[in-house]
Amino acid sequence: MKKVQGSLYFTLILMTWIPLVGFAVVILGFAAGTLKTGMEEEVEEALRNLGVSIMETYETAYPGDYCVDEEGHVLKGSFTLHEDYSLIDHIKEETGVEVSLLYGNTRMLTTIRNSDNERIGGTVVSDVVAEHVLGQGEEFFSKELSIYEEKYYGYYLPLVNSDGSVAGMLFVGKQQKEVNGKVDHLIDQIIIIGFIVLILAAFFSICFTRSIVTSINTMMEFLRKIASGDLSVKQDEKLLARNDEIGEMGRLALTVQRSLRQLIEKDGLTDLYNRRSGERRLRELEKKVKESAGTFSVALGDIDFFKKFNDDYGHECGDVVLKKVAECFQRHLEECDGYAVRWGGEEFLLVFAGLDEKQAFSKTETILAGIQKMKVTYGEKEVSVTMTFGVAEYRKDETIERLVKRADDSLYKGKAHGRNQVIGGL
Ligand code: GH3
Ligand code: MG
Ligand code: MG
Repeated sequence: MKKVQGSLYFTLILMTWIPLVGFAVVILGFAAGTLKTGMEEEVEEALRNLGVSIMETYETAYPGDYCVDEEGHVLKGSFTLHEDYSLIDHIKEETGVEVSLLYGNTRMLTTIRNSDNERIGGTVVSDVVAEHVLGQGEEFFSKELSIYEEKYYGYYLPLVNSDGSVAGMLFVGKQQKEVNGKVDHLIDQIIIIGFIVLILAAFFSICFTRSIVTSINTMMEFLRKIASGDLSVKQDEKLLARNDEIGEMGRLALTVQRSLRQLIEKDGLTDLYNRRSGERRLRELEKKVKESAGTFSVALGDIDFFKKFNDDYGHECGDVVLKKVAECFQRHLEECDGYAVRWGGEEFLLVFAGLDEKQAFSKTETILAGIQKMKVTYGEKEVSVTMTFGVAEYRKDETIERLVKRADDSLYKGKAHGRNQVIGGL
């Protein structure tokens, strides 16, 4: 791939990357936030449901109100719950949720243990919790409950006796690090997927931008060469094959190149090569023939009494004759490897690549016959045209100027000996 330079590349990359990264950050932030909030709401609801079902289980198993006896043991109805951990331990084992049964603000039964692995029974809850649940009889949920240096998502439910008084609380809680661990794991997964998508999008954006910028650079190089006068530069095939606006620009640049070549190399009236490009092509042919064993011939032709067309019918009629003669040359030269050059006003040089003098002579006679047969109509007039040609074959030791001079000498001879003929042999 060609070296990509300039600011367009970076501008395009930034134009894709800035919204891409911004979009990814917003989406990931939104997804993470929604996930965390959703998870917290789910935990709150699950804790509450668990708390309600524990209370119902106690209610069914031990009907009656909560109270304490004189030894300070908590009772429910006539049943003592003192050190009856079977239900709450079972729940902890099954769900991982910590459960405490509190009388007033004091933990009587609990699954929570301190660092010495002892249950923290006998400890009390914070004033805020006591105020909400015992004072106002409301349920209380917090994401930031601190119990023995451990953070909990915790739900407190009031234990209401038959007279409507709040005897205590039921606590259900899950360690914050456990819940957050799950959320963080999911967020990590979202970030990894987002990152992979971002990398893929960035990769495709780089490839796409490179392809665009490389094509534009290729076209710039093409136009730069044309601007410096090199009209033979080749347009890149890959650029021309592009099926988009850049490909179209490449094709237009090629058309500009062809039009410029046409303007520079061709004669405006007859559409034949002009003398300058005709001479250049002749030198190219000479070089080729010198390197190989081939040959070529030329025929210098001049329209007979051309001045008369101008004088009798006007300059425009002369132009029409020149065009018709040129068309006739092109028709005949299409059949062989040759071309015609407008050498001067009504003088033309025909070039026959690969033909020796004899073959070129015969071909020129055929062309002359074509011109003789040609009827040129101008307005209501019909005029006929004849030409005189001098033919010469290239000799390896001579210059192009010398070759054309020999053809010109034959032409002069033809003019002197009655015109309307082909002369060679000099
Ligand atoms: P000859 O048979 O000896 O060649 O006679 P001629 O009349 O063809 O020769 P001459 O050189 O006297 O005349 C050539 C004329 O061609 C003179 C010039 O005005 C005319 N001519 C040259 N270029 C053009 C052109 O582009 N258009 C027109 N209409 N005439 C042109
Ligand atoms: Mg002339
Ligand atoms: Mg003439």
